[in-house]
Amino acid sequence: MTEQWHQLRNPGLVPGGSDPAIAAEQATRLGLDRWRELPRDQAPPWPNQTEVDDVSTVLSTVPPIVAPYEVDTLRAQLADVCEGRAFLLQGGDCAETFADNTEAHLLATARTLLQMAVVLTYGASLPVVKVGRIAGQYTKPRSAMTDALGLPVYRGDMLNSLEANAEARRVDPQRMIRAYANAAAAMNMLRAYLSAGTADLRAVHHWNKDFVKNSPAGERYEAIGREIDRALAFMAACGVDDDALHTVTMYASHEALALEYDRALTRINGDRAFGLSGHFLWIGERTRRLDGAHIDYISRISNPIGVKIGPTTSPDWVLEACDKLNPDNVPGRLTLITRMGNQKIRDVLPPILEKVHGAGRAVIWQCDPMHGNTHESSNGYKTRHFDRIVDEVLGFFEAHRAVGTHPGGIHIELTGEDVTECIGGAQALADEHLSQRYETACDPRLNTQQSLELAFLVAEMLRH
Ligand code: PEP
Ligand code: MN
Repeated sequence: MTEQWHQLRNPGLVPGGSDPAIAAEQATRLGLDRWRELPRDQAPPWPNQTEVDDVSTVLSTVPPIVAPYEVDTLRAQLADVCEGRAFLLQGGDCAETFADNTEAHLLATARTLLQMAVVLTYGASLPVVKVGRIAGQYTKPRSAMTDALGLPVYRGDMLNSLEANAEARRVDPQRMIRAYANAAAAMNMLRAYLSAGTADLRAVHHWNKDFVKNSPAGERYEAIGREIDRALAFMAACGVDDDALHTVTMYASHEALALEYDRALTRINGDRAFGLSGHFLWIGERTRRLDGAHIDYISRISNPIGVKIGPTTSPDWVLEACDKLNPDNVPGRLTLITRMGNQKIRDVLPPILEKVHGAGRAVIWQCDPMHGNTHESSNGYKTRHFDRIVDEVLGFFEAHRAVGTHPGGIHIELTGEDVTECIGGAQALADEHLSQRYETACDPRLNTQQSLELAFLVAEMLRH
């Protein structure tokens, strides 16, 4: 093990890592390019394959965004989630943009996730594994080819621009290089800031106290806030001062949609391939066909992976997906991210849980209460109501309690800024507030207050 880790930490020792001929032969052996021959939903309308190939060649030799040993560490931590000894918190923008890839924006997201994690850690009395939709969440699957103005639809900053004109909407392969540079810069900043003061537990708890003080629903959360206070005072009095109180590891995740990008950042070590564009890669509800390109690509990398499953998913489909994506039944390898909608989860999820649990499959169950609960507001905004989000998480917990499986985590679209994109919550945002700060490049996100409120409510669910 030690020797293997030594190799993983030293890319120079990766066999074939720098020799293109050996790397190509190994890639063939591992089937890393099989996806190119398979049906592919949501394929970007690339203007010209030569340019895509040239960009892929560039990206195939750059330093990766993440390191193989980190990917393996995350997998080990997710094994704890799978077996009920930890909880998984994943969140961030629906679509990251290059313009918003700033210190302020990244810090706000990280800080919100850390604040939520403290509350959840306390509520669950379990370690919380923290994963951002960050440093690479630059592609979006779309339901239509054109937008309301009749322009080619925005597909995420890695592919085209949100700007509303035909030229900006042209898919440009060079944007993959910008995506790489932005992801690398984001990851660099996060690593540096989170290994210093930003992650200090006392500071994070202090921000939570501000939230409790200022939230219209603060009273409800005061009890948990006070308990955490006392727990911290107790630890301080005992002289507990561990590194874990001052530093945090936050992992990076994104949807593997522009497969050219993720494939180009894949590196081989011995018998294993690692997708090093991020620690955790997931496949979306719209690209999860089992005989398709996306599922084939992620089946061949060693990372922890996720698949979003919507309300039409059958128990048999899930078993087949487990066979294909986790044939060795490794705990922590596969996360199923349910996004059923609050009105369906109580009917659709239990039979899936029963079947998978009965078959003894190692799966992390994570609740995405966002994507099944989107509607159009009276004044034309794509929005989500806080109550439906909370209700889907409740339904998720109910289903797991009934079947005896571990409700492993939540997957949230959020930002650490005071946007007005989702309605409801203690601030009582309503349709007429949406125009004040509706800034998302794609789906509506919970703002800071709504995110923290959700964390307190989930902490209550975890305790009961
Ligand atoms: C997303 O996570 O932004 C997304 C598109 O989700 P889904 O694939 O579940 O629709
Ligand atoms: Mn989304």
